[in-house]
Amino acid sequence: MITRITILGATGSVGRSTADLLAEHRDRFRVSAVVGGSDAVALADVARRLDAEFAAVADERAGRALSEALAGTGIACGAGRSAVCDAVDRETDVVVAAIVGTAGLEPTHGAIRPGRSIALANKESLVCAGAAFMRDARAAGVPVLPLDSEHNALLQALGTAATSDVERMILTASGGPFRTWTIEEIARATPEQALAHPTWSMGAKITIDSASLMNKGLELIEAHHLFGIEAERLDVLVHPQSIVHGLVAFRDGAVSAGLAIPDMRVPIAHCLGTGQRLTTTARRLDLAAIGTLTFEAPDLARFPALKAARQALAAGGAMPTVLNAANEIAVEAFLARRLGFAQIAALVEETCARFAGRGTGAPASVHDALAIDHEARRTATEILSSGRRAAS
Ligand code: NAD
Ligand code: MG
Repeated sequence: MITRITILGATGSVGRSTADLLAEHRDRFRVSAVVGGSDAVALADVARRLDAEFAAVADERAGRALSEALAGTGIACGAGRSAVCDAVDRETDVVVAAIVGTAGLEPTHGAIRPGRSIALANKESLVCAGAAFMRDARAAGVPVLPLDSEHNALLQALGTAATSDVERMILTASGGPFRTWTIEEIARATPEQALAHPTWSMGAKITIDSASLMNKGLELIEAHHLFGIEAERLDVLVHPQSIVHGLVAFRDGAVSAGLAIPDMRVPIAHCLGTGQRLTTTARRLDLAAIGTLTFEAPDLARFPALKAARQALAAGGAMPTVLNAANEIAVEAFLARRLGFAQIAALVEETCARFAGRGTGAPASVHDALAIDHEARRTATEILSSGRRAAS
């Protein structure tokens, strides 16, 4: 049986890993549509490589370059918001949601109404609008398959057990490039240093989030929504080798773990195999060659972003939405050298503090979530510019 796939964020790191896997299994998959942000030439390349039926760029201005790059191929194309919607609406079985940031929320959510399965990499969607998103998916009978490596490992480690038998779910973190740095060294870190991830090769935003450990914080919130497990049963362990991705501790004392080398094709294959194992050419895990796997507790004093995310999860309401929005503003400013590394967590904390007294409830819909996201971005931007004025 042929499975039809749509890739949102096809030119990114997860999108390219998905394309690599699909190219190895042409007999099993057909690609309905590929979607990118503004990188028309790269999108045309992946559309041609996968023989996609349709390609869409979100950025209207890139439409012309896309149609020129696809001229004569027979691949239909479009640009702008409506073209992205068209891509999601086309007949398909599984939507791989791999746009980065809150920009992915609406297109990913758009896959629910026509009843597609969603292989979810875009964790920001769930951090921003988790309860509403999962409620809508459940109501439509749409499976949300965890593509993020930790959550995919947790799903595999859980097996057929009920979450009521789970005492704890533990997500591992590599610790990022600053795992052994002092607080002063981390405060002086440059974008180049933060972008040099020790074990994973990923897009810029998630790489910065991994360096601050905000990524693990976002993933705790993601796990809460995906598995319906409350914050008290979720934990983080730093594991520099990135071999064990998630552990499930059961109430009888048994612990199951999901292991693989750090290669996104492994969790992607699990999602796209829909119950069957797909062969991948990922390097095989050789534990004798690795020899030692180590684990340590995360240091919340050096990595306050993880603490802020835990607090947002515990506080509930609109706090995760606010945290996520402020973090996107902070990461963007850090990459543009308008903010120091230590100020990423500080800006997130300050933005969350301004919303804390308001008692805003959890967004009741994606529309609500985007309104809170918008407001939080405005607040974070204001704090950012007033801080810069104060500093200058
Ligand atoms: P990336 O930056 O490499 O790619 C992002 C993709 O999104 C690109 O195709 C880009 O063109 C597209 N895009 C950006 N803005 C867009 C917009 N407004 N509309 C449509 N498309 C847009 O990012 P990535 O590392 O592939 O990560 C993608 C998502 O997957 C993130 O949410 C990340 O947290 C998550 N994730 C990534 C990895 C990984 O290994 N890279 C692992 C787990 C989860
Ligand atoms: Mg992950």
